[in-house]
Amino acid sequence: MTERSHNLSLEEMDRQSVLHPFTHAKDYAAGELGDLRIVTGGSGVTIHDQKGRAYLDGFAGLYCVNVGYGRKEIADAIHAQASQLAYYHAYAMHSNEPTIRLSDRLLRNAPNNMQRVYYGMSGSDANETQAKLVWYYNNVRGKPEKKKIIARQRGYHGASVCSGSMTGLPVFHQAFDLPMERIKHAATPHYYWNARKGESEQEFSKRLAAELDAQIEAEGPETVAAFIGEPVLGTGGIIPPPEGYWAEIQKVLDKHDVLLIADEVVCGFGRTGSYYGSQHYGMKPDLVTIAKGLTSAYVPLSGAMIGEKVWEVLQQGSDQFGPFSHGYTYSAHPLGAAAALANLDILEGEDLTGNARDTGGYLQQRLHETFDGHPLVGEVRGVGLLAALEFVADPASQTAFDPGHKVGAKIAGACLERGLIARALPHGDILGFAPPLSITRAEVDRLVETSKEAVDALTDQLTREGLL
Ligand code: PMP
Repeated sequence: MTERSHNLSLEEMDRQSVLHPFTHAKDYAAGELGDLRIVTGGSGVTIHDQKGRAYLDGFAGLYCVNVGYGRKEIADAIHAQASQLAYYHAYAMHSNEPTIRLSDRLLRNAPNNMQRVYYGMSGSDANETQAKLVWYYNNVRGKPEKKKIIARQRGYHGASVCSGSMTGLPVFHQAFDLPMERIKHAATPHYYWNARKGESEQEFSKRLAAELDAQIEAEGPETVAAFIGEPVLGTGGIIPPPEGYWAEIQKVLDKHDVLLIADEVVCGFGRTGSYYGSQHYGMKPDLVTIAKGLTSAYVPLSGAMIGEKVWEVLQQGSDQFGPFSHGYTYSAHPLGAAAALANLDILEGEDLTGNARDTGGYLQQRLHETFDGHPLVGEVRGVGLLAALEFVADPASQTAFDPGHKVGAKIAGACLERGLIARALPHGDILGFAPPLSITRAEVDRLVETSKEAVDALTDQLTREGLL
């Protein structure tokens, strides 16, 4: 049992009371995980902690604070809405004004003629909603066996039971007896590691589509309901699709009457330099998942946008199954909608999507100039304000590091020591960047120069340790 004293520092109180995600409780309790950063404020691309340290946040929190920290317009909109009406539910013929205005605005800009929006609080719960929409759709259509959802290895769709099953990373499955039976995984579209010798990007895309076709045939097309993917695969490594990928995948989905769910939780609202990743890559999704950049995380809010095919069926409903019987207390929360409207005013008013395109192009260029040919870097990749460096022991022979050396995590640590937050991604040795969309060229220079210092320092250390 923990003895609770009344004279604890905030840090000690945290150690004794908070269970943090992805944090080894025993090591934390033993003080082996280093300093706790209690984040106290932020402005633009910078956050501050309780010790007065400032960091350039090169990952916008968890790629969500897209308009940057400290935007008073959003705080004011939340305050005004909370003062007027902080909450009412959206069940049984109730709604609220910000939700109505937000829905209309979202559908005007959405890809592929979306018809309705269903709201939640997180990307995970929005993807749970997508699964239930897909299952409901096929039950109502009289196709009760058509229920499997194919996601991709290394895809990320959330951490709850069904969305965590869709996530194609073993750490989300192993300790929880997941994935669920109905969720299957297809190959990762990563040209650098998975292409065959001499295969072009276009050929690689065609092969992955042929493999998906074979997988659907093997499962039985009458049992496969949907395919879910991020336009740019995110947490699994920030991997833009190879040339022609989505067009080839779409042909296979159309052939087998399989719906496409575009998980736009990261790509949506400007990050790729287009308003949606689906638009950037010419995807034709039937369902679209949104969260993060919808409110820039000022209030938790997510959505499942519903396209024509599914809406047709939902609209008719069913005597046997009743209406779409799914709801959360906080579906269509007015504070979330008010924050989203103020956030979209900034995103659109300041053309931050344009900034993601221009300054993002500059980030990609600077990363290539700085790291192409670096002895530790196998690949520099990205699109817009989404980028990654992949570290390998030997770029010439494309030899990965032993995962035990934790090279990616050490480089993220070296960045942090120098005042830069970049994120070590969980598969391989990858350092990811996804700064606020409001970042300037001068701040991009600082981000790239600081990462170079960190990578060089680690290269020296690995050389001294005889690992290079
Ligand atoms: N989908 C994608 C593409 C994501 O990146 C994330 C979160 N990183 C989620 C879904 C899940 O969102 P949340 O953490 O809000 O549940």
